[in-house]
Amino acid sequence: MSVNIQPEKLFNYINGELTAPRQNHYIEVCNPATGEVYTQAPNSTLEDLNAACASAKKNQPMWAGLEAQERANWLRKLADGIKKYGDELALAECRDTGKPISIARSLDIPRCSANFEFFADAITQYHTECYPMQNAVNYTLREPLGIVACISPWNLPLYLLTWKIAPALVTGNCVIAKPSEITPNTANVLAQICKEVDFPAGVLSILHGQGSQIGDLITEHPDISAVSFTGGTATGTHISERCAKKLKKVSLELGGKNPAIVFSDCDLDKTVKTIVRSAFANQGQVCLCNSRIYIEDELYPDFREKFISETQKLKIGDPEEITTNFGAITNLAQYDKILSAIEQAKNNKANILLGGNKLYLDGRCSGGSFIEPTIMENLSLDCETNQNEIFGPVVTLNKFSSEEEAVKLANGTKYGLAATVFSNNIGKAHRVAAKIQSGVVWINEWMQRDLRIHFGGMKQSGIGREGGFNSLNFFTETKNIYFNYE
Ligand code: NDP
Repeated sequence: MSVNIQPEKLFNYINGELTAPRQNHYIEVCNPATGEVYTQAPNSTLEDLNAACASAKKNQPMWAGLEAQERANWLRKLADGIKKYGDELALAECRDTGKPISIARSLDIPRCSANFEFFADAITQYHTECYPMQNAVNYTLREPLGIVACISPWNLPLYLLTWKIAPALVTGNCVIAKPSEITPNTANVLAQICKEVDFPAGVLSILHGQGSQIGDLITEHPDISAVSFTGGTATGTHISERCAKKLKKVSLELGGKNPAIVFSDCDLDKTVKTIVRSAFANQGQVCLCNSRIYIEDELYPDFREKFISETQKLKIGDPEEITTNFGAITNLAQYDKILSAIEQAKNNKANILLGGNKLYLDGRCSGGSFIEPTIMENLSLDCETNQNEIFGPVVTLNKFSSEEEAVKLANGTKYGLAATVFSNNIGKAHRVAAKIQSGVVWINEWMQRDLRIHFGGMKQSGIGREGGFNSLNFFTETKNIYFNYE
């Protein structure tokens, strides 16, 4: 068998079958590196959703009735399928997102199989509480919620989709998954893998389409009892309001405006290299990317010089070339948003140290959406550039003169997703990390992920935590049972 990564049209995956949308409506899918439309994805409607929910309802008791180990074995089959088609998936992800093929191969796709393997292992270690009394016992059962929705964004398409569906499935739920309409291709390959391994029908459904259409229908559907969402804060707020009206359980992983704090006693070379990665990985389109860099006064001139020169080493180009490490902007609306944010910063008298413009490549990528890695300084904390998530390759350099000021600046936005602290003073690094309002803080590192730890944001960066048992807890309902021996 093989998978098709360049079909004329993609399919929904409903009741174990690759199916065309009931209303035959499609959305064009574009390769952002070339500007060419290369396939079409279903624009699903209520009929598709009803069919997926009916199949999920029918099959959920069977799925929940399997031993956890049996469900884990099914997840391992999906992981094996992802490994088998790793090259095809990486190319599909590269075409959909414009990200460098080297990143898709080394980071995105291996993480998708790891997500399934991790939760297949985790379920075997999942346990509940037990409170013995004099003549009685209280113990907790954890039961699946039923049918749950997993909605994911376009920046790490299959990586984030599998991060949600793996724990949802392994706990006995049936899943309605909605990938972003902008990057639907790898989810379509996952559906083909499900077919190949004969994954039980109705347990996983994949519905493509516009968030404003099928997304709204999903969050409203009476058969769906919980929504796990990763995406922008505005969409998360909208989903949260809709779910609140129906008292649905909701988990929200939202945007960030992540600070890096650089003390003068850091290892400068290592810090600069790490921040080039944390600022410009995936063209700045990772929710964890650092976009505000705070540097201690005395180190500022040296840091600035080295940071600019290290950023200039990024190889910008055709994402399908293996040596490229900086590709295209995935989403055309996002492309315009980034450029207008740069213009706004210029109007606010930002000093542009590097970049700040559209990039025009020759040849195959001449129609692509590229923006130069952009570094600027001379902006106050309260300006829009330092307050709002840009989600692109744009960072600001800022000075601080004391530990207290660094913490105040880092905490000075509505977001609280991730932060990094660079210092060789152990006490100071931990003291500052403890004061930062953020779901995760890395010290002298960035984006080291252990799938057992919690993941999620404070303030406007989200509600709830994913990762390890947190994900398994989200997708289950607890029930206490009391039993008196007498
Ligand atoms: P969006 O919020 O626009 O979309 C995310 C997903 O939600 C997409 O599948 C989208 O579909 C869907 N959607 C849109 N409207 C609705 C709706 N009304 N109901 C249900 N679903 C809807 O985010 P982006 O795709 O633009 O992703 C970028 C954002 O994601 C950034 O803010 C980034 O910080 C955040 N993010 C957060 C992460 C975290 O872990 N905290 C990780 C990665 C990204 P469609 O695309 O088809 O419109």
